[in-house]
Amino acid sequence: MKIVVVGTGYVGLVTGTCFAEVGIDVICIDIDAKKIENLNKGILPIYEPGLEVLVAKNVANGRLKFSTSLKKSIPGADIAFIAVGTPPGEDGSADLKYVIGVAKEIGESMSSYGVIVTKSTVPVGTAKKVEEAIKEALDIRGLKIEYDVASNPEFLKEGAAIDDFLKPDRIVVGVSSPRAEELMRKLYKPFLLNGHPIVFMDVPSAEMTKYAANSMLATKISFMNDIANLCEIMGADVNMVRKGIGSDARIGNKFIYPGIGYGGSCFPKDVKALIKTAAENGYSMQILQAVEAVNEYQKTVLFNKLNNRFQGNLKGKTIAMWGLSFKPNTDDMREAPSLVLIESILKAGGTVKAFDPVAINEAKKIIGKKITYCDNEYDTLVNADALLIVTEWIDFRSPNFNKIKELLKSPIIFDGRNIFEGKDMNELGFEYYGIGQKIIGNYE
Ligand code: NAD
Repeated sequence: MKIVVVGTGYVGLVTGTCFAEVGIDVICIDIDAKKIENLNKGILPIYEPGLEVLVAKNVANGRLKFSTSLKKSIPGADIAFIAVGTPPGEDGSADLKYVIGVAKEIGESMSSYGVIVTKSTVPVGTAKKVEEAIKEALDIRGLKIEYDVASNPEFLKEGAAIDDFLKPDRIVVGVSSPRAEELMRKLYKPFLLNGHPIVFMDVPSAEMTKYAANSMLATKISFMNDIANLCEIMGADVNMVRKGIGSDARIGNKFIYPGIGYGGSCFPKDVKALIKTAAENGYSMQILQAVEAVNEYQKTVLFNKLNNRFQGNLKGKTIAMWGLSFKPNTDDMREAPSLVLIESILKAGGTVKAFDPVAINEAKKIIGKKITYCDNEYDTLVNADALLIVTEWIDFRSPNFNKIKELLKSPIIFDGRNIFEGKDMNELGFEYYGIGQKIIGNYE
């Protein structure tokens, strides 16, 4: 079987590499010539644990190739995945210009039956548009080649993408013909041997499933942030509440950690897009509107704690920041809450010294020289007035607390991810502010 993956970003590169890993011939395409040139030299465009080794192995065995030419790669392919970006347009709806552009190009170069699969997150109805774009291109060529369009949304988590792809909780495939179903089943067979389920459904349901999944996860996060904020007001401790509710199997203990708001390339845009899709069709997604509003508020919570602690005067204050990426184990800075925090601190007249184990290069592309980047977490603390913990990298979980105390001007920590507990931190002599924790401030 030969497949083509169009778009070699977080999703496309992982998808292509994992299919090659199970023995399929894969060509990954991107319009970014530099990205392809680097990949051909073994330089990856993203940080994803385990990916570099798998790419190198499958390039070496000849199953994984990279190219900028869709036209040369599509002829003879059994399946073409569209994995390009679907960024939010100005009104919040998913911008489909890249997806439709690729569909048109596929129609311009396909030579035999194939299944064209949208792996990008796309609103209900997109597969129809993809089908039309291919048909138009074939009509112009005066050709009648059979094809099917399927939807196969991706559920991988950045930071654990390889495992998620190779051992998926489920594979969702929307198809509109038995022929497409058969081919998709054959493609995914190697992943099903260990009992991972594949769920076939109609195409619109598959498209909706991805938005429903991300929206549900975003809802859990915003709900817990709301509860955390109320815990602070009422003198309850969200860490206790979380354990109390998470042990109920109906609720579950995942995605109920409060923090400083969800970010990344998916939740913010997918929640917005679903709200927009509903509005365009005369329906109001009331829960998701609240989820968004809570998230916007939550991104301000850590700054407000910091600002209040310094009586609204951050002028001349140096703030140490641990973590920049939107979550651990990725260098993805898209919609990272750290960006909002940094802007607020700079606007208030403070300066920021930051460290992140892998995201500094990506951060520099967005933040530039507005902050100081340090080589390790302890360097951020030199002459700093307070420490902000922004991303819960495992590296930060058991630091040298004595060293932190020695280096900071005063031992003040704002923990946006609750990696520490107020009681312990007070015992260690820190003034500590978490999210929704009972013990806040200085209990020395
Ligand atoms: P990305 O921005 O990392 O990668 C997209 C790639 O597509 C880029 O390298 C870009 O150069 C390339 N591209 C754009 N137009 C092209 C064209 N005409 N031909 C060839 N290549 C082209 O995006 P991503 O994070 O991989 O996301 C891709 C899609 O998958 C989005 O719809 C996203 O919502 C969805 N998704 C992302 C994740 C995630 O964790 N990142 C998870 C599940 C689903």
